[in-house]
Amino acid sequence: MESILVEHGVLVTLDSRQRVIRDGAVMIEGSRIIDVGKTGELHRKYSAEHTIDASRKLVIPGMIDCHVHLAQALIRGCADDVSLLDWLGKYVWPLQGNYDAEDGRVSAKLCMLEMIKSGTTSFIESMIHTRYGFDGIARTLEESGMRGYLAKTIMDTPAYGRKQMMHEGMIEDGEKSLSETITMFGRWNGKANGRIGVWFGPRSLGACSKTLYEKIGEEAAKRKAGITMHLCEVKEDLRYAQRKFKKSPVAFANEVGLLTPRTVLAHAVWLTDRDIAVLSKTRTNVSHCPSSNTKLASGIARVPEMLKKGVNVGLGCDGGPSNNSYDMIREMKLAACIHKVRLSDPVTMPAETILEMATFRGAQAIDMQDKLGTLEPGKLADVVLVNLDSAHMVPNNNYISDLVYAGCGTDVDTVIVDGKTIMENRNVKTLNECEIIQQARERAIALLERTNLKLATHSNYC
Ligand SMILES: [Zn+2]
Repeated sequence: MESILVEHGVLVTLDSRQRVIRDGAVMIEGSRIIDVGKTGELHRKYSAEHTIDASRKLVIPGMIDCHVHLAQALIRGCADDVSLLDWLGKYVWPLQGNYDAEDGRVSAKLCMLEMIKSGTTSFIESMIHTRYGFDGIARTLEESGMRGYLAKTIMDTPAYGRKQMMHEGMIEDGEKSLSETITMFGRWNGKANGRIGVWFGPRSLGACSKTLYEKIGEEAAKRKAGITMHLCEVKEDLRYAQRKFKKSPVAFANEVGLLTPRTVLAHAVWLTDRDIAVLSKTRTNVSHCPSSNTKLASGIARVPEMLKKGVNVGLGCDGGPSNNSYDMIREMKLAACIHKVRLSDPVTMPAETILEMATFRGAQAIDMQDKLGTLEPGKLADVVLVNLDSAHMVPNNNYISDLVYAGCGTDVDTVIVDGKTIMENRNVKTLNECEIIQQARERAIALLERTNLKLATHSNYC
């Protein structure tokens, strides 16, 4: 069995004792971590086939992005500084409604490349439209070496909320979108040594009938599959649910069987105390997406209140037109700061809590808390090395603070997933970086031309 010893690093274990081990080592055999401790001690116990020198590097569990749109990497920067309704109706939907499967595959490659290069090892993709080509995306995931949970879009009503009609290219049929999800589950779930999962991705309120939501709940439960859905992203969701169902979006989602310990709700901005109690009781997970929520002025999710009531909250980068990056380290900083200003409380949401959200709380959201999210013997070897040598990280007075408040994705040096080194010294081994960048540029130009869209920009290009 292949073995790797990561040695001489600063290990942020995130174990129950919150140990940070200086001159620490991680011994990996096959796909698992078999030991962690001081480098000297592990040297005496093991001789590994490969060693990775982690001197002046932080060694952390791989980060888990709980809300990603792979297809949106290609339309990064195409809908900035516009209202949410224009963002969707004038830019994002027309662009995505013109995708073909090759656009979907190239965008997924670009997105995975960016995630690997910034230390994300697992992610939940929330909505794959049939036109993006599910098989091509799943194959790309297999090649990338990452761990991913791919939700197929399910919908039967071409609307979002009360008034927003969908672009024709984005419309899917209810029966077909559900049955395709089930087919993809059979084809891909558990593949690539368990690195690929297939989830159910119902569209947000207004885009599915009550009967379809109920069917989704039943079919996912039968297969013990995950469900992910945008909920309470904008205030309009509340008004819509009140008018249509006479209850809150959370109460409605609970009634139709969508709230389970295997469910991840993206955003969950507009929640009442009663909604938070329901999420806690049903052990539903939330993906907090602070960049997207601030850039689109959707609001600030009540994360400290949710954590206090026992709701599991992970972090999500969302997409290319809403964030506009897929960098979990940058996302951590905003997540750490935004609640302090909202509550006028600099003590709330310390760096350690935020790093937990990016790692083992994310693991809990994907129901992998026994296998991922900490550096401990027996866990799967998803390990990230972060360079501590850059000017903005020195003099390394406080490692976790350095990572959360001073770091950025480009500080990530080496990434191991499932015991395989997929990036070393910033060289990605599984994907062809130059080729992906070139293909993404070509595809984006062709897509904009085909969509015949003028970008939202205040610049005067000449
Ligand atoms: Zn989203």
